[in-house]
Amino acid sequence: MIFIFLGPPGSGKGTQAERLADEFKIPHIALGDILRETIREGSETGKVAKGYVEAGRLVPDEMTIKIVEERIKRPDCKNGFILDGFPRSRQQAEALKEALAGQDYKVIYIEVPLELTIERNAGRLSCANCGAVYHLKNNPPRQAGICDKCGGALYERKDDNREVIETRFKVYKESTAPLIDYYKDKLISVEGTGDIEGVFKRLLKALGV
Ligand code: AMP
Repeated sequence: MIFIFLGPPGSGKGTQAERLADEFKIPHIALGDILRETIREGSETGKVAKGYVEAGRLVPDEMTIKIVEERIKRPDCKNGFILDGFPRSRQQAEALKEALAGQDYKVIYIEVPLELTIERNAGRLSCANCGAVYHLKNNPPRQAGICDKCGGALYERKDDNREVIETRFKVYKESTAPLIDYYKDKLISVEGTGDIEGVFKRLLKALGV
């Protein structure tokens, strides 16, 4: 089964995508994580991506499309996968449509009011090693600064400051939100307010699991 997650920054889509990937035993492909990894490695792609990611702008389509096309061809994707953070533009959606021609997929839209997503972004902590996401208030790690899953160090993403968060919302509204209409025939909307467990239960119910 192939799932695509849509939702504004801070909607909790990454957390839900990770839970669903565990449930179905399929890879969780988070493009933001892949890009941050290429930046850490200092590869050519990473050098180009850095400025965009840190400013909260979209990395050029040609680059993200190529990364995703290559990633979903890998053998671990043969029974399905979850895309989180891709597509984020019409051009990416068109490219994905071609790459997935003949395959069935569902688009999950995590719906949350704007004020809540801003609050969730501020206070978010990410694991430098495995990419797991925590929140100081809503989902704190058991031990401060340490990832529950892998023991990696937690850090606050550079693009989680208020100014960059505002840019990310603007980009979301302009480029990504129109995809809700683009996918209207495949869209499954899930109310994303409340705790992680409650949202996940609603998600499974909406998928008929
Ligand atoms: P995320 O971890 O999903 O919040 O993504 C962090 C940043 O990575 C975004 O603000 C963009 O700069 C970049 N990024 C992630 N996904 C995409 C995409 N599909 N297209 C372009 N840039 C992306």
